[in-house]
Amino acid sequence: MKHFDDTICAPATSVGTGAISVIRVSGPDSLRLADSLVEFRTGAAMSSEGYSLKYGSIPGVDDVLVSIFRAPHSYTGEDSVEISCHASPYIVQTILQKLVSAGGRMAEPGEFTRRAFVNGKMDLSQAEAVADLISSGSEAAHAVALNQLKGGYSSELKALRGQLLDLASLLELELDFSEEDVEFASRAQLQNLLDSAVLHIEKLLGSFKVGNAIRSGVPVAIVGAVNAGKSTLLNALLGEDRAIVSDVPGTTRDTVEETLTLGGTLFRFIDTAGIRESGDAVEKIGIERSFRCIDKAQIILGVLDGCAPLEEVCKSCSEILGRVAGTDKKLLLLRNKVDSYDAIAPEEFPAVDRSYNCFELKYPAFGTYNLSPVQLAEKISDYLKRKGVPAGGELQILDISARTGEGLDALRSKLIAAGGFADWNGATLVTNLRHYEALERALDSLRRVSLGLDRKTPVDLVAQDLREAIYELGTIFGAVTTDELLGNIFGRFCIGK
Ligand code: GDP
Repeated sequence: MKHFDDTICAPATSVGTGAISVIRVSGPDSLRLADSLVEFRTGAAMSSEGYSLKYGSIPGVDDVLVSIFRAPHSYTGEDSVEISCHASPYIVQTILQKLVSAGGRMAEPGEFTRRAFVNGKMDLSQAEAVADLISSGSEAAHAVALNQLKGGYSSELKALRGQLLDLASLLELELDFSEEDVEFASRAQLQNLLDSAVLHIEKLLGSFKVGNAIRSGVPVAIVGAVNAGKSTLLNALLGEDRAIVSDVPGTTRDTVEETLTLGGTLFRFIDTAGIRESGDAVEKIGIERSFRCIDKAQIILGVLDGCAPLEEVCKSCSEILGRVAGTDKKLLLLRNKVDSYDAIAPEEFPAVDRSYNCFELKYPAFGTYNLSPVQLAEKISDYLKRKGVPAGGELQILDISARTGEGLDALRSKLIAAGGFADWNGATLVTNLRHYEALERALDSLRRVSLGLDRKTPVDLVAQDLREAIYELGTIFGAVTTDELLGNIFGRFCIGK
């Protein structure tokens, strides 16, 4: 274990928002610093056992509770104390000043966790999971961060790296005996091991989409024709009737995003500024704008206007599918405004039970009222075929009314299913871009190894590629680190973490 000479301190809670603040102190002088500041009721911190709580007062400042941690049984692995005081910015500032005057040093961002890593309390990916856990805003994000924090994630990567190390030592052995032209490992066996490692990494890379969406929210785009009811639907889903704000001079609302947690998953509705432009503005900008957010989304809610004539609905649907079919985005097609069908007099149209018998179209304003969702889907499919637009599979349409809330529960269930967390079986998910990129580089190297073995490339070159893959995997949990890497990771933490 590496020993740091200095003792660091920082507020561990955000100042000024709660009733209590905690100041964290870690390093060899922690207990002495506490004793120099606090008049304890019972004995000094220096003579206290770890995991004990002491009451005392900092004269003229505040009464405090101090938790004592003895190395190595603390977050950082060092002697540490946590001072709980009242959450006044003035009190926190004064205590920190006193700590610094007594010989402490203000901690840099992420320095506590960095010490925990250097002292072997956690590996690098666990340290990163601490940040994710703290910022987790949904059950899903929390579950994934917790799994990574508990080390399930690193042990999988360590095992994978271990296999590659075994492979490397076989190759290195051959290098040692290169004069004698021996092969210690059967090429077929090596190739098998490699193939399974490549598959494993590919699976991890594939999990990033779900992992990242779970961590930062599944991006959802609501698209469809003007007046189809997109903003009404957004408001209905968000559960509050927010006003549609039209142009506010000088404000740019291009990045407006609303979030919603359903079934433990966080959903992010992207580019809601576009959705909320009122009719005329959208017409001016053109339909293009409302479609632009499709690229950034993972789930698309395609809103069809149930009051529009069939031809228009087909056209609008074809525009949506033209952009979605062939991608791996999930499309949920919705026919909105079905409540308006109920307004048709029962003797004219038994709309209440929605039997969708084909009636003569007397009320064009009621759009596709005479078609059931299945029939509508068939009509749209025919239209797409005629126009040569790929449908990307069988179309399914869900009837909803953004106004009355009808069908929204079914929509919520579909969203939850499409979000991916419901199917998550605890398998390892890559949630971190740094890890993703390291895995990509490792995969590249392994592919070169595989090719090299295939082409009988000299063993030293193959071994070099293999070492690179091993290096990359090691950077994920910190088997290999550089100051720059650690600086990058912990620099993004806040002070006190
Ligand atoms: P957007 O342009 O797609 O965002 O459409 P809006 O949400 O602004 O809605 C356009 C019009 O359709 C408004 O007058 C809404 O009140 C109306 N509307 C939206 N959803 C429904 C619905 O479910 N039923 C009915 N009857 N009208 C709706």
